[in-house]
Amino acid sequence: MSAEAAKVIPVGIANVAKIIDAQRAFFSTGATRSLDYRAEQLKKLGEAMQKYEAEIFAALKADLGKCETETFLTEIATTSEELRHTLRHMRHWAQPRTVPTSLIVQPAKSEIRPEPKGVALIIGPWNYPFNLIGAPLVASISAGNCNVVKPSELAPATSAVIAKIVRENFDPAFLACVEGGVEVSTALLEQRFDHIFFTGGTGVGRIIMEKAAKFLTPVTLELGGKSPTIVTKHANLDHTANRLTWGKFVNAGQTCIAPDYLLVERSVAGPLVEKLKARITKVYGQNPKDSPDYARIVNQRHLKRIASYLKDGTVAFGGEVVESERYIAPTLVTQPKLDAPLMQEEIFGPVLPIVEYNTPEEALAITQARDQPLAMYVFSDKASEVEYFLDRQTSGDACVNDLMVHFGNSSLPFGGIGPSGLGAYHGQRGFEEFSHMRSVFTRRMHFEMPLYGAPYGNKLGILKRAMKLLKYL
Ligand code: NAD
Repeated sequence: MSAEAAKVIPVGIANVAKIIDAQRAFFSTGATRSLDYRAEQLKKLGEAMQKYEAEIFAALKADLGKCETETFLTEIATTSEELRHTLRHMRHWAQPRTVPTSLIVQPAKSEIRPEPKGVALIIGPWNYPFNLIGAPLVASISAGNCNVVKPSELAPATSAVIAKIVRENFDPAFLACVEGGVEVSTALLEQRFDHIFFTGGTGVGRIIMEKAAKFLTPVTLELGGKSPTIVTKHANLDHTANRLTWGKFVNAGQTCIAPDYLLVERSVAGPLVEKLKARITKVYGQNPKDSPDYARIVNQRHLKRIASYLKDGTVAFGGEVVESERYIAPTLVTQPKLDAPLMQEEIFGPVLPIVEYNTPEEALAITQARDQPLAMYVFSDKASEVEYFLDRQTSGDACVNDLMVHFGNSSLPFGGIGPSGLGAYHGQRGFEEFSHMRSVFTRRMHFEMPLYGAPYGNKLGILKRAMKLLKYL
């Protein structure tokens, strides 16, 4: 099917194969290889984010009860920053890079040329439903791919706005949005893509990888996990409490890199809990349910799941659950049972278990007994303490004396390790994730390598002597 014909295909599950055919046809015209074309599409996306801002605000309010400021900061500004950084640097990233040529294959020119992969599929979650489609899309467009995006059905209002932005601004042969749930994802995964970028839970990540294996499609898996936060006695407790209140309770704790649980040195545990209580009350008021700035749980299923964790320790603060309003108060749980679901599953909600430890070894034993997390946080003013934990506990990313802000730095790759993810993106790393880094080795035509090929005669001796001389052997 031609790219022109694609413009009249209704975008929906029944037409998934036709959309991908049309995108392949368009990709093969070479149009997306042009850096001007890519920049034009990115600018269009940036303009659309401004034009539809009010609709994005309304959608996030409907889906997650998010206030406009939080939506702006965590959905729009983070995506815009990624877009701005990419527009500024992508021409440089796209340049072929000349690399040295090993002596044994000299003389030649060796280059790495980033190339678009083809047609990319981007599947998003519901918790930051705009940014987690927008930011990978920026990376994929900058790399020169055609794209199908599938936003989460659990954030239906945001999914509808994304579909509208795509429909009203982009050629479906370049960018299409297919809405729906598991059945739509499944239908999409029956098709061959050239890259699949998935953000979501670890269990579904496994399904995505299995489906991708059928076509040997490369995948990026941005998954979740239990991200520990370690607070030592050398931390400034006021700053720690302030940052924890923001990091744990923004979006009602429904953040993949939220501090999942706290490990706090026993001598400062009591004071930290008191400071947390005071800070939460200051930020969200005596009754956070009435705060215009406190978000809601996405649906009843997740509300019941999170509420069930409250029995796994002592509720030291909060704990109120109002099903009809999808509300769970900012909650602190002390003395959590380490083998209970609260300390075994990703919480993904506004409940913070606080575990006290006596020695760094004890804290480490708790983090190491769990899967490699997406993020790790250490609060301490003592560099040797920070390094102790950074050296011994791996994680996708780490952030010292703050929470989650590393996500906003486009110069840092963002991604997990092991069960918390595969691959990374943001900035140049995102461009490369969606590119094929092609090696191109160029020899001058007239040059004949005297040592190659039979008859070998005494070439072995010459080769060995030459390599020894040059310290290759
Ligand atoms: P999810 O895995 O349930 O859903 C994500 C997407 O996958 C949705 O679009 C959904 O329609 C689709 N999907 C669901 N089941 C599927 C199936 N069987 N086959 C194919 N597709 C399927 O995740 P979620 O509940 O939307 O998001 C929460 C999870 O995402 C948490 O674990 C969180 O940590 C993680 N997350 C990770 C990041 C990150 O950047 N690493 C960011 C946000 C969320």
